[in-house]
Amino acid sequence: MIGGLKLKSEALRDKQKQLIHRLFLHILEFMLVVSVFNIIGNVLYGFPKEINIKWIIFIGVILATYYFTKERLVMSWKFIFFAFAIFVMMPFSFIDSGGSVNNTIGYLFIIIICVSFFFWGWQRYFLVISTVIIFNLLLMIETNMPEVIKVYSDETQLLDRMVQISLLLILAFLFLKTFSDAYLKDKKRLDEIVHFDSLTGLHNRRSFDEIVGEMIKSMNPEHDFLVFIDIDHFKQINDSKGHHYGDLMIQSTAKLLDEIFGERDVVARWGGDEFAVLFHGEEKELIDKLNEIINVNKVALSCGYTQISNEISAEILLQRADKALYKSKEKGRNQWNKSSE
Ligand code: GH3
Ligand code: MG
Repeated sequence: MIGGLKLKSEALRDKQKQLIHRLFLHILEFMLVVSVFNIIGNVLYGFPKEINIKWIIFIGVILATYYFTKERLVMSWKFIFFAFAIFVMMPFSFIDSGGSVNNTIGYLFIIIICVSFFFWGWQRYFLVISTVIIFNLLLMIETNMPEVIKVYSDETQLLDRMVQISLLLILAFLFLKTFSDAYLKDKKRLDEIVHFDSLTGLHNRRSFDEIVGEMIKSMNPEHDFLVFIDIDHFKQINDSKGHHYGDLMIQSTAKLLDEIFGERDVVARWGGDEFAVLFHGEEKELIDKLNEIINVNKVALSCGYTQISNEISAEILLQRADKALYKSKEKGRNQWNKSSE
């Protein structure tokens, strides 16, 4: 059992790593496009050519990082990549393109978003604290040694800012969208695993228990009857026709129940060959449906039901429905029974 849990948690960790790996490659692609845009922009606005050296080196670093991490996410490469952005790209960009009048600070936000997503523990804090310290140092240099900072005409600076701000906003949007889409997709998949049975697509026992619990808590239960349904002699079916055939029987029973019960009812796979239903309606209607169920030719089913009341705990209700089902089994199977106590 413990071995199984260990395997499960390793499999989950692997999945998480794959997701982060995929996102990291996306971020590299975005960074590549931004670097190329910046070079084109710099040429168009007549910035001196040497201003592009850092972007060309950055493209080299992006391509190398892409090449070495394409197959497998190597933590050290990921770290080197962001350290390069913080320790090399940021100071050079700040000095090269006009000091605090330019948009280096915007790129800092992008770096911080990525660092908080891609790193844990000391690496995360190291990169964030380094970013803050370096930016403060650059501000001090700008004030105390203004001759180091390159100066451009107001017109060039305005054009650069307009392009850079647009690029930064688009980049921030793409990064946050990439992260939040990945998170929502993963959450949806997890919710499905947690609440639905993978063989039949019905609610699983956990989800059914939650629904019954919530319903009993609310003063006005929406459903009127709790029903248990179990396949008769399922072990024999499994043994004589094989496990795969048994699975198909479970699926076709699930489909049958889903078709017989309405939209407002809740049908769940309680476990193994047993199903549970929360039925909303008159008892007469329910009995018609149960007769329909026991008259199906393909599979023999036993049913038990009890009336729901908010004065009775979920536990007692489940026990009563189970007792009614047991009565059906005892009395010869392929029939329904009711239990009121
Ligand atoms: P009864 O008429 O009293 O219900 O007898 P039964 O043979 O149906 O006995 P029971 O309901 O206890 O048997 C359930 C069996 O269902 C036991 C287990 O091997 C089998 N089973 C549980 N889950 C699955 C599954 O996902 N697929 C298949 N093929 N068999 C399953
Ligand atoms: Mg059975």
